[in-house]
Amino acid sequence: MPKVNTVLGPIAPEQLGFVAVHEHIGYGMPGSELDTKWWKTPEERFAETIPKLREFHANGGGTFVDATGICNGRDVDYYRALSARTGVHIVASTGFVGGDTALPLFARATVDYLVRQFVHEITAGIGSSGGRAGIIKVGVSRGGRMTDLDKRIYRAAARAALQTGVPVLTHLAIDAENAIAIFREEGLPLDRVLFGHVDDGVNADKTRDTWIADQGGRIGFDTFGYETELPDPPFWARPRKERLDHFLRFIGEGRIDQVLASADANCSPLGWPGVKGHTVNYLFTDLVPDLRAAGLDDAAITTIFVDNPAAFLAIQN
Ligand SMILES: [Zn+2]
Repeated sequence: MPKVNTVLGPIAPEQLGFVAVHEHIGYGMPGSELDTKWWKTPEERFAETIPKLREFHANGGGTFVDATGICNGRDVDYYRALSARTGVHIVASTGFVGGDTALPLFARATVDYLVRQFVHEITAGIGSSGGRAGIIKVGVSRGGRMTDLDKRIYRAAARAALQTGVPVLTHLAIDAENAIAIFREEGLPLDRVLFGHVDDGVNADKTRDTWIADQGGRIGFDTFGYETELPDPPFWARPRKERLDHFLRFIGEGRIDQVLASADANCSPLGWPGVKGHTVNYLFTDLVPDLRAAGLDDAAITTIFVDNPAAFLAIQN
């Protein structure tokens, strides 16, 4: 029977329900937790996060995938407490958002060392928590091209994915040719990889989303809600209709089985103010209504938010 690793233990893919596939309990640059300006007590983080997860659950949300990775504020003991309190399944990630957020200990590590780290977090657990990672995060460092360290992390992720059967999720879909070359060299089927952020306002015209899909990759429209219409538009902002049209055009080309959608929101941002008013619940308050208004039926909504994530997250043995 296939399983998905959640922080409270493995569950069957059918138990995931509605999945928010790229979200953050709290994302920050390494060291932000030490900065006086941005200091948050555990109680403050908890108080900011619990209502958002409870609302997610009340809206019909089943599973929250935390795409934070090592070094950016991931805290699995805390996630376990949040999951137990709210009833939301939380999937944690091993791996790194990008080489440029890997702390020196990992930045100097060999591919073999990184593979052992990722595999341990997936099979034995993160630290001594017993909570296992259910996904491997990788990403291209800021600058737009994969660095040598990024490539080591991608290669280690591919090997750990093959050894354990968990999937890979990328931060950014830029420089996809290099990424796909590494996955192919390692023999990782591309339907085990979700290429994220094809829709973000900065990179949307640089990501070759249809080309990646033609290669067999899964495609993440996962920055829904970062809108230029917001009072204080964030860096990745894009006009709401333009992003929606991009998504509808893409699935209209017969690619609905390859897409995943999410809001990439932070329940309690670390070391930055976050985007005011933007939460994972955008999926329910705005995105699903927009999709229905555009003519998508229940079956299509289920494909995007239930069936595709279940197929992606299920551990392949
Ligand atoms: Zn993210």
